Order: sequence, then C-alpha cells, then structure tokens
Amino acid sequence: MVVILEKNITESQIENIISRLECYGFSVHRSTGDEQIILGAIGVKPEFDIRKVKILEGVADVVRVTEPFRLASRTFKKEDTVLKIKNVKIGGNEIIVIAGPCSIESEEQIFRLAELVSKSGAKILRGGAFKPRTSPYSFQGLGKEGLKMMRAAADEYNLLMITEVLEINQISLVEKYTDIFQIGARNMQNFSLLREIGKSAKPVMLKRGLAATIDDLLMSAEYILVNGNEQVMLCERGIRTFETNTRNTFDLSAIPVIHKRSHLPVAADPSHATGLRDKVLPMARAAVAAGCDALMIEVHYDPENALSDGPQALLPQDFDILMKQCRSIAEVIGRKIC
Ligand code: PEP
Ligand code: MN
Repeated sequence: MVVILEKNITESQIENIISRLECYGFSVHRSTGDEQIILGAIGVKPEFDIRKVKILEGVADVVRVTEPFRLASRTFKKEDTVLKIKNVKIGGNEIIVIAGPCSIESEEQIFRLAELVSKSGAKILRGGAFKPRTSPYSFQGLGKEGLKMMRAAADEYNLLMITEVLEINQISLVEKYTDIFQIGARNMQNFSLLREIGKSAKPVMLKRGLAATIDDLLMSAEYILVNGNEQVMLCERGIRTFETNTRNTFDLSAIPVIHKRSHLPVAADPSHATGLRDKVLPMARAAVAAGCDALMIEVHYDPENALSDGPQALLPQDFDILMKQCRSIAEVIGRKIC
C-alpha cells in the first residue's frame, strides 16, 4: 500500500501516521522527494480496509498495490485458467460459443434450437429453467421439467449445457442435469449462494451484477474459489448507466481489464448487454476483438412469441452470420472459433 501525504504536512503528523501504520502491523518505508513525501506500507492483508488510513490527518491518498482478492488474481496465479468440461476447453485459444433461448419453453423449442445452434458451431446450449424475472407476473421458467428437456436436447446434438441456479435449494437438482452452473447478474452478490456453489464440483459462470464494479465481480469469484471450486469463468453482460438507448451498457473494456488482473476466463454476453437484436451482431464482433474467451448469444426461431427476452433474440439465420463473422475476427487476433 502506498500512502501519499499532503504537501503541507507537519513532522508530528507524519510520525503519527507512521505509528498508526505500525500499529496495524505494517512495516513502513519513508521516501522524501522534493515535491512529496510517500510512505510505503508493506504487509497489507487482503481484508484490510484502506479507509482506516485514508481518514488520517495529513493523508492525501492511499493506493492499494496488492489485490483485495487473492485466489482470483494474476499475482497469485500467472497462467490462464482453462476450464475443461468434457470435450470443451474454455480459456484456451479457441473461443467457445454458448447459444440458445433465454428460457426453455417446450421440448420442441429446445430441441429445435439445439439443432440449429449446433449446426452453426455453438458448443454449449444455454436456456433458463429457473428465471430471475424483474416482475413476479412474468414467466418464471419450467423448472425440473425444463432441465430434463434441455439435458436431452444437449445430448442429442452433442452440446454441453449451461443453466441458471437461483437459490441454494435448487443446486442439487440443477447439478444433476447441467454441465455448467450460471449465477445471474442479480445474484452476483448472493454470498450464501456463492459459498454453496463453491462446494460443488461443477464449473460456474458468474455474471457481473448490474451495478457491480470489476473488483466486486472478482471479489464474488473469490467466494466460489475459496470454497474449493476452481472452475470459474466470469461474464460481462452489461451494466446500468445513464444511457437509455440500450438495455444496459456493454462494458467491453472489462474484458482486457479482467484478463490483466485475473487468470479466470471471461465470457461476453452482448444479448443482455444491449437488449436489442440489431445490436447483438456488432457487439459480438467487438467482444471477440476485445479478447473474450466465450460468447453467449440468445437465439430463437420465433422471437415474437418467446416467453422472455424475444426482442434481443437473434433469428437462427442471423446467428449463423454472427458465427461466420466472429470466426473471421478471431482469426485476425490469432484465435479460433470452430
Ligand atoms: C440470462 O442469461 O438468462 C440472464 C438472466 O442474464 P443476467 O443474469 O445477465 O440478466
Ligand atoms: Mn435472457
């Protein structure tokens, strides 16, 4: 931690700051420049609240140089984490495409979509059986029946499956069917759910909360990792801003920022990020260019009658175009989409 002192600070204030830092257990190194005095405090614990130093008299600013999260950070693990799920690797050179409907609606729907997205090259089938809806009057998902339909559809077309788990008491049921758990944006800071998912042996995709910073997301990932589950990928799905032209604002720079700070793979979800069908293709291209390790796209053959998120679903033929264009972009940056 670096403590920058105010220019007009007195010697007794400096002594006071140093002795407080030593009380907190740090060893302190003072460097006196022409313009500014800086204190280097060594031995900061991840849980130390730097505001305790920020509020001391004579302190201009405090900068944490070690991460508040440990297991998720690049400092802790230099090499990229690659999730290996059956025949699919996420976090390696290949960019994995996850596609399917927002919600599982019927056996016919999920089978048809599984066939269509697998033909275009998706490796993982998405679809919600338990839906986190803003309104309690909206479709809440088919539950266990939906999971069964989706498992059968994924197996039929040799796809992996990812589906959301909303509550702790759904974990054991969802675990029986899915290959990957999804923790949705609204549950990103549901710490008790994160702890329980951390005890599972199945991989997890953790979506960024609507109002969460990148550090918040990494701290939430830490909850899963510290409980023993090391197979975590993160997902940028747009954040709330003052902009109203899109459903959310796609924070594309989160992708390289996370890659620098963490070894975990990063997925991008332009469907939820933009909320508008015609914005999904350009932003999917941009996400690939920005370095995402996986791309999650909502697809429906009858979006007008979809039970959720129809306006952002791509038609299968448009999804096929997306795959082709993203393949070309992946090649430019030395990666591939099979
Ligand atoms: C979803 O992917 O189905 C979903 C509900 O996304 P989010 O949690 O990002 O809103
Ligand atoms: Mn959706």
